[in-house]
Amino acid sequence: MFDHILIAVDGSPHSDKALDYARGLAERFSARLLLVHVYPQTSDLLGYSDFERLVSRRQAAGQKIIADARRRLGEIDAAVLEDLLEGPDAEAILSAAQAHEVDLIVMGTRGRGAIEGLLFGSVSRKVTHLASCPVLLIR
Ligand code: ATP
Ligand code: MG
Repeated sequence: MFDHILIAVDGSPHSDKALDYARGLAERFSARLLLVHVYPQTSDLLGYSDFERLVSRRQAAGQKIIADARRRLGEIDAAVLEDLLEGPDAEAILSAAQAHEVDLIVMGTRGRGAIEGLLFGSVSRKVTHLASCPVLLIR
């Protein structure tokens, strides 16, 4: 049913839980996994004299989130591809889903955001509204 699953991770406990589900689904359906993290857009850093160092720092923080997620997957009976992208977050997830022709997006209902009481985060809400494939939100 699913051949290619995109799992979007932000390093939060919610995304860890979604990652565990994505792992199980990939093994169950013999699907490939596309592990995606989006680091914040860097256009706000333009004009800073140490622009490149600040960009590298954002990319390194993003790379660590990908590496932690890959480590959490551990030994897995599925092909895993990693994709580190620049924001805006929901748009980057949606375009990766299209470019890689995935047939399922898995993500947490909430993420690292601090505002309590909301059911959906802005990223999960936007991706769910605009995706052209099924989206599985884990809560
Ligand atoms: P908000 O960001 O609006 O304050 P939130 O952080 O609680 O709210 P979301 O950001 O929508 O909620 O996170 C929901 C899920 O979306 C996360 O569990 C994760 O799966 C995915 N996600 C969020 N941000 C990113 C990101 N930068 N890169 C990849 N996936 C992300
Ligand atoms: Mg968030």
